[in-house]
Amino acid sequence: VKMPTSNKKSSPNSAANQCAICLSNIEPKKRSVISTCLHEFCFSCIKKWSKENAVCPLCKQNFTEILSNIRSDADYDVYKITITNQTGYRRYNRSKILFIFY
Ligand SMILES: [Zn+2]
Ligand SMILES: [Zn+2]
Repeated sequence: VKMPTSNKKSSPNSAANQCAICLSNIEPKKRSVISTCLHEFCFSCIKKWSKENAVCPLCKQNFTEILSNIRSDADYDVYKITITNQTGYRRYNRSKILFIFY
């Protein structure tokens, strides 16, 4: 395992690669970044999160795009958030009926 130990930026955020949703270390392959604030999460976590609130769990900014499959600064996929009907979600929670899209 190669760790970049020479990274001596005096950032107070030592848990930079921790996902704030599942609190695990983000696997490099699953790493994704919110396009507006550049906070990092596992792609699966932030994707799931964004279906209920398209706001960053850390800084509460709205976002509409998640950058995933980041191979380099200029090589990544963009996942666009489709805003789901919040009422539909609340109904789903109450009634246990699957897939109400009203
Ligand atoms: Zn996660
Ligand atoms: Zn953020």
